[in-house]
Amino acid sequence: MLLAVVGIVSLGLLLLWYAPGKDPLGQRSYRIWTWAIALTAASIVCLALRVVLPEWICVLFGNALLMIGIARLQRALEVLSDPPPPAWHHLVAAGCAWMTIVPFTLIWPSIHARVIIISLGLAGSLMFLAWRIRHMPKLWTHRSARALQVVALVGAMILVLRALLESAGVEPKLDYYTNTTIDVASYSYFGVGPLLLTLTFLMLLNDRAFAELERQAGLDPLTGIFNRGNFERQARRLLVSAAQQQQNLALLLIDADDFKSINDRYGHQVGDEALRTIVAALKSQLRGDDVLARHGGEEFIVLLKTPDADSACAAAERLRNAVANAEFSHAGIRIPLRVSIGIAFTHSLSQQVTSSLQHLIRSADAAMYSAKREGRNRCKLAA
Ligand code: GH3
Ligand code: MG
Ligand code: MG
Repeated sequence: MLLAVVGIVSLGLLLLWYAPGKDPLGQRSYRIWTWAIALTAASIVCLALRVVLPEWICVLFGNALLMIGIARLQRALEVLSDPPPPAWHHLVAAGCAWMTIVPFTLIWPSIHARVIIISLGLAGSLMFLAWRIRHMPKLWTHRSARALQVVALVGAMILVLRALLESAGVEPKLDYYTNTTIDVASYSYFGVGPLLLTLTFLMLLNDRAFAELERQAGLDPLTGIFNRGNFERQARRLLVSAAQQQQNLALLLIDADDFKSINDRYGHQVGDEALRTIVAALKSQLRGDDVLARHGGEEFIVLLKTPDADSACAAAERLRNAVANAEFSHAGIRIPLRVSIGIAFTHSLSQQVTSSLQHLIRSADAAMYSAKREGRNRCKLAA
């Protein structure tokens, strides 16, 4: 018990002292978790004080703090989902659990009944924690989420066993100072459980932050689509699914026409807005699994599944039209947007994905330049 007190109090202090990174949702979740651990630490201190204070005060206050603490641990995880479920239901459940121990403290004092109720209540909360994390798809992809679930489920198992043994009267608990075998197992869990839960929770926050950084590093900040570095990775995904469906592929290289003159005439900011408008027009014509990336400057690249070269040309023509029909103006003046598109069609890609893609890009690039030479605002299929 002393180990549990020292462990959780130092954990609470450590968490209060540490401040996590800059991600607001992660910070919010961390704050809630920290206060939940602080409440749990206070509850264990309060329960331990029954050697010097009136027992009923320690039991009622200690358990109230414990129930709220556990409810807040659940909440800390939930705020990471988007949108989070309502906040109050854990507190209602905690309040109900607490009220059931009041009569067994004040009216018919019974350690036996309280051990059963509190063990089952805590086991239920831990099972709920394990269930909740399983149903948060973005978090569940991380191994740390599974680790957190295992720690919670082990605790739930020990506590259910404690309630079962207590109700079967296998090793009846006579007073607080005699510890049965399962008491020792439970107190050990109270000692290391919060540490392990917090460790896996921090691992989870770290995994989540890293995944978000990785996602952002693969996006172009101006337009929000994939950047050039990320194109190949996304293209591989499409190649696999195209091979499975025995589909052919087309790579389109799209270059804005006379873009420099937009910048020169209206300024760089209007040029940026024009690029975003072009991207919105392209996106409006693409399907969910088509890959769109910014190839650099005012050039974009599209990889899509297509049955034949004619369909690829038709798709390119739809993209070109969408840009030409996009409404774009500055200070009341309509600014026309035009693109030239080079198309490279292929039946399949070799195992050498990177060099195949580079080859396709070179063909599409040559076709795009010949579209420019032929007068711009047109699509051209590579020879
Ligand atoms: P062409 O029809 O031959 O492609 O002519 P162009 O003017 O589009 O081509 P050029 O290569 O001469 O100029 C490209 C311009 O695109 C110059 C560059 O400043 C502009 N540009 C590239 N990236 C950005 C950007 O992120 N924002 C803005 N505003 N302009 C950009
Ligand atoms: Mg260009
Ligand atoms: Mg251009």
